[in-house]
Amino acid sequence: MVRPRRKLLNWTLCWTQELQWVSAARALVKSCESLSDLTWSVCAVMSILAVNSLQQISLTQGDVPLRLTRNANVNSDYKWPMYLDVVQVPFTISSDFTGAEINVIKNAMQAFSLSTCVKFVPRTFQYNYVSIVKQSGCWSYVGRQGGEQKLSLGYGCVFYGIVQHELIHALNFWHEQNRSDRDDWVQIHPENIIEGKEHNFKKRETDNLGAEYDYFSVMHYGATDFSANGKDTITPLVPSASIGQRFGMTETDILKINKLYACSESSLQLKT
Ligand SMILES: [Zn+2]
Repeated sequence: MVRPRRKLLNWTLCWTQELQWVSAARALVKSCESLSDLTWSVCAVMSILAVNSLQQISLTQGDVPLRLTRNANVNSDYKWPMYLDVVQVPFTISSDFTGAEINVIKNAMQAFSLSTCVKFVPRTFQYNYVSIVKQSGCWSYVGRQGGEQKLSLGYGCVFYGIVQHELIHALNFWHEQNRSDRDDWVQIHPENIIEGKEHNFKKRETDNLGAEYDYFSVMHYGATDFSANGKDTITPLVPSASIGQRFGMTETDILKINKLYACSESSLQLKT
């Protein structure tokens, strides 16, 4: 039991943190508005990481809840099942989203139907489903969890590429820089990482599905994400490579989804 006075104190603390988060988010996203498309994308992602860093939920990979540190990527138990060549992922969308936001979310989902055998379908009675909610920050569990699993698109998160990023987590993918072969492609700078955030850069045992490392993946962090001093936390070993885009899925992102779910040629051809 929580005594009323304690409850009031907890609520006040919570509300104060929420206000702090909202005002920080507004300022950060606003500061991106006058920038060009590419710079905007990088700016928006940095804002989201900053916003996420203010929230209370513990996120192990910046946007992956900590209690799910088990690696789903190499474990097929966390894949969504396929029926008749189609992987149906049921979802619900909270009524907290506006009509315009729901359109962005549905457009981002439609890209999966057009280029993979994964189809996000409105939930009817399915037991396992993704519940899209507007909580603090942008985050998702990795892979199918069983029952309802939340995916948050908070303030500053409802953008095409960011929605796809979180949906790809739900399909059972970690970040690109967590790949088992990442040291051949990027250098991590632990000395520049915010103290306590080093786990975001952990190398994991991943099934890379025969795909080459993709600097441009929508699942890759930007160069200065979680930087304590403004210096790079990740440097591509190919100097000309740029990392951290959030325009949307790349061909390699799509290829990996199709490989993980063993999408058949015929199921893809049906969509063209
Ligand atoms: Zn992520």
